[in-house]
Amino acid sequence: MSSVAPKTKPATDTPDVVDPLPPMRWSNILNELNWLSTIILTVVPAMTIYGSLTTKLRWETALFSVFYYFVTGLGITAGYHRLWAHRSYNASKPLQYFLAMAGAGAVEGSIKWWSRGHRAHHRYTDTELDPYNAGEGLWWSHVGWMLLKPRRRPGNADVSDLSKNEVIRWQHKYYLPLILGMGVGFPTVVPWLFWGDLRGGFFYAGFARLLFVHHSTFCVNSLAHWLGNAPFDDKHTPRDHVITALCTIGEGYHNFHHQFPMDYRNAIKWYQYDPTKWFIWVCSALGLASHLKVFPENEVRKGQLTMQLKRLRETQEKLAWPSDSNDLPVISYDSFIEQASKRPLILVAGFIHDVSNFIDEHPGGAHYIIKYVGKDATTAFFGGVYDHSNAAHNLLAMKRVGVLHGGLPQGLQEKTIPPSQRLKVARYAELSSVSGHSSASSEKESSPPPA
Ligand SMILES: [Zn+2]
Ligand SMILES: [Zn+2]
Repeated sequence: MSSVAPKTKPATDTPDVVDPLPPMRWSNILNELNWLSTIILTVVPAMTIYGSLTTKLRWETALFSVFYYFVTGLGITAGYHRLWAHRSYNASKPLQYFLAMAGAGAVEGSIKWWSRGHRAHHRYTDTELDPYNAGEGLWWSHVGWMLLKPRRRPGNADVSDLSKNEVIRWQHKYYLPLILGMGVGFPTVVPWLFWGDLRGGFFYAGFARLLFVHHSTFCVNSLAHWLGNAPFDDKHTPRDHVITALCTIGEGYHNFHHQFPMDYRNAIKWYQYDPTKWFIWVCSALGLASHLKVFPENEVRKGQLTMQLKRLRETQEKLAWPSDSNDLPVISYDSFIEQASKRPLILVAGFIHDVSNFIDEHPGGAHYIIKYVGKDATTAFFGGVYDHSNAAHNLLAMKRVGVLHGGLPQGLQEKTIPPSQRLKVARYAELSSVSGHSSASSEKESSPPPA
Protein backbone atom coordinates (compact mmCIF):
# COMPACT_ATOMS: atom_id res chain seq x y z
CA MET A 1 0.00 0.00 0.00
CA SER A 2 2.59 2.49 1.00
CA SER A 3 6.01 3.00 -0.36
CA VAL A 4 9.02 4.49 1.25
CA ALA A 5 10.37 7.65 -0.29
CA PRO A 6 13.70 7.13 -2.04
CA LYS A 7 16.88 8.80 -0.90
CA THR A 8 17.56 12.27 -2.16
CA LYS A 9 18.63 12.22 -5.75
CA PRO A 10 21.03 14.81 -7.12
CA ALA A 11 19.31 17.47 -9.18
CA THR A 12 20.18 17.51 -12.83
CA ASP A 13 19.37 21.13 -13.58
CA THR A 14 20.95 23.37 -10.98
CA PRO A 15 21.13 26.87 -12.37
CA ASP A 16 20.34 28.71 -9.19
CA VAL A 17 22.14 26.91 -6.43
CA VAL A 18 23.56 28.97 -3.63
CA ASP A 19 25.77 27.40 -1.00
CA PRO A 20 23.56 25.36 1.30
CA LEU A 21 23.34 26.35 4.94
CA PRO A 22 25.33 24.25 7.42
CA PRO A 23 23.65 21.14 8.80
CA MET A 24 21.27 21.76 11.69
CA ARG A 25 22.55 20.86 15.15
CA TRP A 26 21.27 21.49 18.66
CA SER A 27 24.05 24.05 19.10
CA ASN A 28 22.90 26.24 16.19
CA ILE A 29 19.16 25.56 16.33
CA LEU A 30 18.23 29.08 17.50
CA ASN A 31 20.03 30.54 14.52
CA GLU A 32 18.61 28.11 12.03
CA LEU A 33 14.93 28.22 13.02
CA ASN A 34 12.51 30.04 10.79
CA TRP A 35 10.96 31.93 13.69
CA LEU A 36 7.87 33.29 11.95
CA SER A 37 6.70 29.87 10.69
CA THR A 38 7.67 28.17 13.94
CA ILE A 39 5.61 30.63 16.00
CA ILE A 40 2.57 30.33 13.70
CA LEU A 41 2.79 26.53 13.63
CA THR A 42 3.08 26.38 17.43
CA VAL A 43 0.59 29.08 18.44
CA VAL A 44 -2.22 27.67 16.26
CA PRO A 45 -2.26 24.19 17.88
CA ALA A 46 -1.69 25.70 21.35
CA MET A 47 -4.68 28.05 20.95
CA THR A 48 -6.77 25.15 19.62
CA ILE A 49 -6.00 22.98 22.64
CA TYR A 50 -6.54 25.81 25.12
CA GLY A 51 -9.76 26.93 23.40
CA SER A 52 -11.26 23.45 23.14
CA LEU A 53 -10.60 22.82 26.87
CA THR A 54 -12.17 26.09 27.97
CA THR A 55 -14.92 26.80 25.43
CA LYS A 56 -18.23 25.07 24.85
CA LEU A 57 -18.68 24.07 21.22
CA ARG A 58 -22.06 25.15 19.89
CA TRP A 59 -23.46 23.27 16.91
CA GLU A 60 -23.86 26.45 14.85
CA THR A 61 -20.22 27.25 15.40
CA ALA A 62 -19.19 23.66 14.63
CA LEU A 63 -21.06 23.74 11.31
CA PHE A 64 -19.68 27.14 10.43
CA SER A 65 -16.13 25.96 11.26
CA VAL A 66 -16.44 23.01 8.87
CA PHE A 67 -17.90 25.29 6.20
CA TYR A 68 -15.10 27.81 6.66
CA TYR A 69 -12.53 25.00 6.59
CA PHE A 70 -13.74 24.18 3.06
CA VAL A 71 -13.86 27.86 2.03
CA THR A 72 -10.27 28.58 3.12
CA GLY A 73 -9.06 25.14 1.99
CA LEU A 74 -10.48 25.80 -1.49
CA GLY A 75 -8.68 29.13 -1.46
CA ILE A 76 -5.50 27.06 -1.42
CA THR A 77 -6.47 24.07 -3.59
CA ALA A 78 -8.63 25.80 -6.23
CA GLY A 79 -6.87 29.17 -5.95
CA TYR A 80 -3.20 29.01 -4.95
CA HIS A 81 -2.64 25.54 -6.37
CA ARG A 82 -4.73 24.84 -9.46
CA LEU A 83 -5.39 28.43 -10.61
CA TRP A 84 -2.16 30.29 -9.87
CA ALA A 85 0.61 27.71 -9.47
CA HIS A 86 -0.60 25.61 -12.43
CA ARG A 87 -2.88 27.91 -14.48
CA SER A 88 -5.20 24.97 -15.07
CA TYR A 89 -8.17 27.28 -15.76
CA ASN A 90 -9.03 30.95 -16.11
CA ALA A 91 -10.91 32.72 -13.33
CA SER A 92 -12.93 35.92 -13.52
CA LYS A 93 -11.88 38.86 -11.36
CA PRO A 94 -14.59 38.29 -8.69
CA LEU A 95 -13.58 34.64 -8.36
CA GLN A 96 -9.91 35.60 -8.16
CA TYR A 97 -10.56 38.09 -5.36
CA PHE A 98 -12.66 35.51 -3.55
CA LEU A 99 -9.90 32.87 -3.84
CA ALA A 100 -7.17 35.34 -2.84
CA MET A 101 -9.12 36.28 0.30
CA ALA A 102 -10.09 32.69 1.13
CA GLY A 103 -6.48 31.60 0.57
CA ALA A 104 -5.28 34.35 2.92
CA GLY A 105 -7.61 32.87 5.53
CA ALA A 106 -5.56 29.66 5.35
CA VAL A 107 -2.45 31.62 6.50
CA GLU A 108 0.10 29.81 4.31
CA GLY A 109 2.00 32.72 2.81
CA SER A 110 1.19 34.89 -0.19
CA ILE A 111 0.10 33.49 -3.54
CA LYS A 112 3.39 34.47 -5.13
CA TRP A 113 5.63 32.88 -2.47
CA TRP A 114 3.50 29.72 -2.34
CA SER A 115 3.31 29.27 -6.12
CA ARG A 116 7.02 29.89 -6.59
CA GLY A 117 7.85 27.07 -4.15
CA HIS A 118 5.23 24.80 -5.64
CA ARG A 119 6.49 25.25 -9.20
CA ALA A 120 10.00 24.36 -7.99
CA HIS A 121 8.49 21.31 -6.27
CA HIS A 122 7.06 20.12 -9.59
CA ARG A 123 10.15 20.95 -11.59
CA TYR A 124 12.64 19.34 -9.21
CA THR A 125 10.48 16.68 -7.52
CA ASP A 126 12.45 14.50 -5.07
CA THR A 127 15.70 16.45 -5.48
CA GLU A 128 17.42 18.84 -3.10
CA LEU A 129 16.04 21.76 -5.15
CA ASP A 130 12.51 20.64 -4.26
CA PRO A 131 11.61 22.78 -1.20
CA TYR A 132 9.59 19.94 0.35
CA ASN A 133 11.67 17.06 -0.96
CA ALA A 134 9.92 13.81 0.04
CA GLY A 135 13.30 12.06 0.05
CA GLU A 136 14.05 13.82 3.36
CA GLY A 137 11.21 11.96 5.05
CA LEU A 138 7.56 12.39 5.97
CA TRP A 139 8.15 14.85 8.82
CA TRP A 140 10.38 17.09 6.72
CA SER A 141 7.97 17.27 3.78
CA HIS A 142 5.02 17.88 6.15
CA VAL A 143 6.31 20.72 8.35
CA GLY A 144 10.07 20.34 8.89
CA TRP A 145 10.90 22.37 5.79
CA MET A 146 9.00 25.37 7.23
CA LEU A 147 10.41 25.22 10.76
CA LEU A 148 13.99 25.69 9.59
CA LYS A 149 15.40 28.35 7.36
CA PRO A 150 15.47 26.87 3.83
CA ARG A 151 18.67 24.83 3.70
CA ARG A 152 19.16 26.12 0.17
CA ARG A 153 17.25 28.17 -2.32
CA PRO A 154 14.59 26.14 -4.19
CA GLY A 155 15.26 25.44 -7.85
CA ASN A 156 14.45 28.09 -10.43
CA ALA A 157 10.81 28.64 -11.26
CA ASP A 158 9.37 31.32 -13.49
CA VAL A 159 6.65 33.34 -11.75
CA SER A 160 6.73 36.39 -14.01
CA ASP A 161 3.11 35.73 -15.00
CA LEU A 162 2.09 36.03 -11.33
CA SER A 163 3.95 39.31 -10.84
CA LYS A 164 1.77 40.87 -13.54
CA ASN A 165 -1.51 39.76 -11.96
CA GLU A 166 -3.27 42.64 -10.18
CA VAL A 167 -5.12 40.35 -7.73
CA ILE A 168 -1.85 38.71 -6.68
CA ARG A 169 -0.18 42.10 -6.27
CA TRP A 170 -3.15 43.31 -4.25
CA GLN A 171 -2.99 40.26 -1.98
CA HIS A 172 0.76 40.67 -1.55
CA LYS A 173 0.36 44.35 -0.61
CA TYR A 174 -2.38 43.82 1.97
CA TYR A 175 -1.23 40.39 3.12
CA LEU A 176 -0.98 41.15 6.85
CA PRO A 177 -4.44 42.74 7.22
CA LEU A 178 -5.85 40.00 5.00
CA ILE A 179 -4.55 37.12 7.13
CA LEU A 180 -5.68 38.82 10.33
CA GLY A 181 -9.08 39.61 8.85
CA MET A 182 -9.73 36.32 7.03
CA GLY A 183 -7.73 34.04 9.34
CA VAL A 184 -9.16 35.25 12.68
CA GLY A 185 -11.41 38.32 12.30
CA PHE A 186 -14.06 37.06 9.89
CA PRO A 187 -14.51 33.59 11.50
CA THR A 188 -14.87 35.30 14.91
CA VAL A 189 -17.29 38.01 13.80
CA VAL A 190 -19.75 35.77 11.95
CA PRO A 191 -20.63 33.50 14.94
CA TRP A 192 -20.67 36.59 17.21
CA LEU A 193 -23.09 38.57 15.01
CA PHE A 194 -25.40 35.74 14.01
CA TRP A 195 -25.65 33.55 17.13
CA GLY A 196 -23.70 35.42 19.77
CA ASP A 197 -20.76 33.01 20.04
CA LEU A 198 -17.71 35.28 19.93
CA ARG A 199 -15.44 33.04 21.97
CA GLY A 200 -16.44 29.87 20.06
CA GLY A 201 -15.91 31.66 16.74
CA PHE A 202 -12.47 32.81 17.81
CA PHE A 203 -11.23 29.43 19.03
CA TYR A 204 -13.11 26.96 16.81
CA ALA A 205 -13.79 28.71 13.49
CA GLY A 206 -10.59 30.71 13.86
CA PHE A 207 -7.85 28.54 15.35
CA ALA A 208 -9.11 24.94 15.28
CA ARG A 209 -10.28 25.39 11.70
CA LEU A 210 -6.90 26.91 10.78
CA LEU A 211 -5.07 23.97 12.36
CA PHE A 212 -7.04 21.57 10.17
CA VAL A 213 -6.55 23.65 7.02
CA HIS A 214 -2.80 23.82 7.66
CA HIS A 215 -2.30 20.11 8.10
CA SER A 216 -4.74 19.29 5.33
CA THR A 217 -2.62 21.25 2.88
CA PHE A 218 0.65 19.99 4.33
CA CYS A 219 -0.56 16.43 3.64
CA VAL A 220 -0.28 17.17 -0.08
CA ASN A 221 3.47 17.47 0.38
CA SER A 222 3.86 14.58 2.83
CA LEU A 223 1.10 11.96 2.65
CA ALA A 224 0.56 12.38 -1.11
CA HIS A 225 4.22 11.54 -1.66
CA TRP A 226 4.14 8.49 0.56
CA LEU A 227 0.80 6.66 0.69
CA GLY A 228 -0.79 4.81 -2.20
CA ASN A 229 0.09 3.58 -5.65
CA ALA A 230 1.44 5.03 -8.87
CA PRO A 231 -0.96 4.22 -11.71
CA PHE A 232 0.59 6.74 -14.13
CA ASP A 233 4.33 6.80 -13.44
CA ASP A 234 6.49 5.41 -10.65
CA LYS A 235 9.65 7.33 -11.43
CA HIS A 236 9.02 9.75 -8.52
CA THR A 237 7.33 9.64 -5.11
CA PRO A 238 3.83 11.11 -5.85
CA ARG A 239 1.07 8.60 -5.09
CA ASP A 240 -2.70 8.27 -5.49
CA HIS A 241 -4.81 7.42 -2.45
CA VAL A 242 -8.39 8.10 -1.40
CA ILE A 243 -7.35 8.76 2.22
CA THR A 244 -5.07 11.57 1.05
CA ALA A 245 -7.92 12.89 -1.11
CA LEU A 246 -10.26 12.93 1.90
CA CYS A 247 -7.65 14.79 3.96
CA THR A 248 -6.86 17.39 1.31
CA ILE A 249 -10.17 18.44 -0.34
CA GLY A 250 -9.39 16.23 -3.31
CA GLU A 251 -5.66 16.68 -3.84
CA GLY A 252 -5.00 12.99 -3.14
CA TYR A 253 -4.61 11.80 -6.72
CA HIS A 254 -1.14 13.18 -6.70
CA ASN A 255 0.48 10.65 -9.01
CA PHE A 256 -1.93 11.82 -11.72
CA HIS A 257 -1.35 15.44 -10.74
CA HIS A 258 2.44 15.29 -11.10
CA GLN A 259 2.05 13.67 -14.52
CA PHE A 260 -0.58 16.13 -15.74
CA PRO A 261 -0.17 19.27 -13.58
CA MET A 262 -1.98 21.54 -16.06
CA ASP A 263 -5.15 19.45 -15.73
CA TYR A 264 -7.79 21.16 -13.55
CA ARG A 265 -8.68 17.73 -12.12
CA ASN A 266 -6.86 15.55 -9.63
CA ALA A 267 -9.40 12.73 -9.77
CA ILE A 268 -10.38 11.67 -13.27
CA LYS A 269 -13.18 9.25 -12.32
CA TRP A 270 -16.59 10.71 -11.42
CA TYR A 271 -16.80 8.66 -8.21
CA GLN A 272 -13.41 9.74 -6.85
CA TYR A 273 -13.38 12.44 -4.16
CA ASP A 274 -12.22 15.75 -5.64
CA PRO A 275 -14.35 18.65 -4.29
CA THR A 276 -11.82 21.13 -5.69
CA LYS A 277 -12.58 19.87 -9.19
CA TRP A 278 -16.33 20.03 -8.49
CA PHE A 279 -15.95 23.59 -7.22
CA ILE A 280 -14.06 24.70 -10.35
CA TRP A 281 -16.61 22.95 -12.55
CA VAL A 282 -19.52 24.68 -10.78
CA CYS A 283 -17.72 28.03 -11.12
CA SER A 284 -17.40 27.43 -14.85
CA ALA A 285 -21.10 26.50 -15.08
CA LEU A 286 -21.87 29.82 -13.35
CA GLY A 287 -19.66 31.69 -15.80
CA LEU A 288 -17.04 32.57 -13.17
CA ALA A 289 -14.34 30.30 -14.61
CA SER A 290 -13.42 29.23 -18.12
CA HIS A 291 -10.86 27.32 -20.19
CA LEU A 292 -10.73 24.35 -17.82
CA LYS A 293 -7.72 22.39 -19.04
CA VAL A 294 -7.97 18.64 -19.47
CA PHE A 295 -5.05 16.53 -20.65
CA PRO A 296 -5.86 14.41 -23.76
CA GLU A 297 -7.51 11.19 -22.63
CA ASN A 298 -5.39 9.22 -25.09
CA GLU A 299 -2.16 10.35 -23.38
CA VAL A 300 -3.58 9.76 -19.90
CA ARG A 301 -4.44 6.18 -20.86
CA LYS A 302 -0.97 5.68 -22.32
CA GLY A 303 0.53 6.45 -18.92
CA GLN A 304 -1.82 3.95 -17.27
CA LEU A 305 -1.07 1.30 -19.89
CA THR A 306 2.67 1.75 -19.41
CA MET A 307 2.35 1.04 -15.71
CA GLN A 308 0.04 -1.92 -16.35
CA LEU A 309 2.53 -3.41 -18.82
CA LYS A 310 5.29 -2.87 -16.32
CA ARG A 311 3.36 -4.85 -13.69
CA LEU A 312 2.61 -7.59 -16.24
CA ARG A 313 6.24 -7.74 -17.22
CA GLU A 314 7.21 -8.21 -13.58
CA THR A 315 4.71 -11.08 -13.28
CA GLN A 316 6.01 -12.55 -16.53
CA GLU A 317 9.59 -12.43 -15.30
CA LYS A 318 8.70 -14.30 -12.12
CA LEU A 319 7.39 -17.32 -14.06
CA ALA A 320 9.41 -20.20 -15.53
CA TRP A 321 9.20 -20.42 -19.32
CA PRO A 322 9.97 -23.24 -21.77
CA SER A 323 13.29 -23.38 -23.56
CA ASP A 324 13.09 -22.22 -27.14
CA SER A 325 14.84 -23.77 -30.09
CA ASN A 326 17.96 -21.62 -29.62
CA ASP A 327 18.62 -23.12 -26.20
CA LEU A 328 18.00 -26.76 -27.10
CA PRO A 329 20.22 -29.36 -28.73
CA VAL A 330 19.34 -30.24 -32.33
CA ILE A 331 18.71 -33.95 -32.53
CA SER A 332 18.53 -36.08 -35.68
CA TYR A 333 15.53 -38.29 -36.31
CA ASP A 334 17.68 -41.44 -35.89
CA SER A 335 19.08 -40.21 -32.62
CA PHE A 336 15.54 -39.38 -31.41
CA ILE A 337 14.38 -42.97 -32.17
CA GLU A 338 17.44 -44.41 -30.46
CA GLN A 339 17.12 -42.27 -27.31
CA ALA A 340 13.37 -42.91 -27.15
CA SER A 341 14.11 -46.57 -26.56
CA LYS A 342 15.80 -45.62 -23.25
CA ARG A 343 13.42 -42.91 -21.98
CA PRO A 344 9.92 -41.75 -22.98
CA LEU A 345 10.48 -39.09 -25.66
CA ILE A 346 7.62 -37.75 -27.74
CA LEU A 347 7.82 -35.46 -30.74
CA VAL A 348 5.26 -32.64 -30.97
CA ALA A 349 5.49 -29.72 -33.42
CA GLY A 350 9.21 -30.16 -34.03
CA PHE A 351 10.14 -30.29 -30.33
CA ILE A 352 11.24 -33.42 -28.52
CA HIS A 353 9.68 -33.76 -25.04
CA ASP A 354 10.73 -35.98 -22.16
CA VAL A 355 7.47 -37.04 -20.50
CA SER A 356 8.94 -39.53 -18.01
CA ASN A 357 7.54 -37.78 -14.93
CA PHE A 358 4.16 -37.22 -16.52
CA ILE A 359 3.01 -40.59 -17.85
CA ASP A 360 1.14 -41.55 -14.69
CA GLU A 361 -0.34 -38.08 -14.28
CA HIS A 362 -1.74 -37.81 -17.80
CA PRO A 363 -5.48 -37.12 -17.33
CA GLY A 364 -6.32 -39.08 -20.50
CA GLY A 365 -4.54 -42.19 -19.22
CA ALA A 366 -0.96 -43.45 -19.36
CA HIS A 367 -1.49 -45.70 -22.36
CA TYR A 368 -2.16 -42.77 -24.72
CA ILE A 369 1.25 -41.36 -23.88
CA ILE A 370 3.10 -44.65 -24.03
CA LYS A 371 1.55 -45.28 -27.46
CA TYR A 372 3.32 -42.20 -28.86
CA VAL A 373 6.78 -42.68 -27.33
CA GLY A 374 9.34 -42.44 -30.15
CA LYS A 375 6.67 -41.05 -32.50
CA ASP A 376 5.39 -37.71 -33.83
CA ALA A 377 2.29 -36.92 -31.77
CA THR A 378 1.65 -33.49 -33.31
CA THR A 379 -1.64 -34.37 -35.00
CA ALA A 380 -2.84 -36.45 -32.08
CA PHE A 381 -2.03 -33.69 -29.57
CA PHE A 382 -3.72 -30.93 -31.57
CA GLY A 383 -7.04 -32.63 -32.09
CA GLY A 384 -6.41 -35.89 -33.96
CA VAL A 385 -7.03 -37.83 -30.76
CA TYR A 386 -7.87 -35.04 -28.33
CA ASP A 387 -7.70 -31.26 -28.73
CA HIS A 388 -5.67 -30.37 -25.68
CA SER A 389 -6.29 -27.31 -23.53
CA ASN A 390 -4.05 -24.26 -23.43
CA ALA A 391 -2.84 -25.41 -20.01
CA ALA A 392 -1.85 -28.79 -21.46
CA HIS A 393 0.06 -27.10 -24.27
CA ASN A 394 1.84 -24.81 -21.80
CA LEU A 395 2.80 -27.77 -19.62
CA LEU A 396 3.98 -29.83 -22.58
CA ALA A 397 6.32 -27.02 -23.65
CA MET A 398 8.03 -27.19 -20.23
CA LYS A 399 9.10 -30.75 -21.03
CA ARG A 400 11.14 -29.82 -24.10
CA VAL A 401 14.58 -31.43 -24.24
CA GLY A 402 15.56 -31.02 -27.89
CA VAL A 403 14.54 -29.81 -31.30
CA LEU A 404 14.31 -32.15 -34.26
CA HIS A 405 16.86 -31.65 -37.03
CA GLY A 406 15.16 -30.47 -40.20
CA GLY A 407 12.68 -28.29 -38.38
CA LEU A 408 9.01 -28.55 -38.80
CA PRO A 409 6.62 -28.91 -41.71
CA GLN A 410 5.07 -25.75 -43.20
CA GLY A 411 1.97 -24.50 -41.42
CA LEU A 412 2.89 -25.74 -37.98
CA GLN A 413 4.83 -22.67 -36.80
CA GLU A 414 1.98 -21.44 -34.65
CA LYS A 415 1.86 -24.71 -32.78
CA THR A 416 5.44 -24.25 -31.60
CA ILE A 417 4.36 -21.29 -29.45
CA PRO A 418 2.54 -22.28 -26.26
CA PRO A 419 -0.61 -20.17 -25.67
CA SER A 420 0.96 -18.45 -22.64
CA GLN A 421 3.66 -17.02 -24.92
CA ARG A 422 1.58 -15.83 -27.86
CA LEU A 423 1.05 -12.42 -26.30
CA LYS A 424 3.94 -11.26 -24.22
CA VAL A 425 5.33 -8.05 -22.82
CA ALA A 426 8.59 -7.40 -24.60
CA ARG A 427 10.99 -4.49 -24.22
CA TYR A 428 11.42 -2.28 -27.25
CA ALA A 429 15.01 -3.45 -27.75
CA GLU A 430 13.94 -7.07 -27.64
CA LEU A 431 11.27 -6.48 -30.27
CA SER A 432 13.47 -4.59 -32.69
CA SER A 433 16.14 -7.28 -32.49
CA VAL A 434 13.57 -9.91 -33.41
CA SER A 435 11.29 -8.29 -35.93
CA GLY A 436 11.71 -4.54 -36.06
CA HIS A 437 8.28 -3.96 -34.54
CA SER A 438 7.78 -0.76 -32.66
CA SER A 439 5.09 -1.57 -30.13
CA ALA A 440 5.81 -2.55 -26.57
CA SER A 441 3.53 -5.52 -26.60
CA SER A 442 2.55 -7.52 -29.61
CA GLU A 443 1.30 -10.78 -30.91
CA LYS A 444 4.81 -12.08 -31.04
CA GLU A 445 5.09 -14.89 -33.53
CA SER A 446 8.79 -15.48 -33.08
CA SER A 447 9.27 -18.69 -34.98
CA PRO A 448 12.53 -20.37 -34.16
CA PRO A 449 15.16 -19.92 -36.82
CA PRO A 450 15.55 -22.92 -39.09
CA ALA A 451 17.63 -25.61 -37.44
ZN1 LIG B 1 3.83 16.88 -5.04
ZN1 LIG C 1 0.84 20.92 -8.04
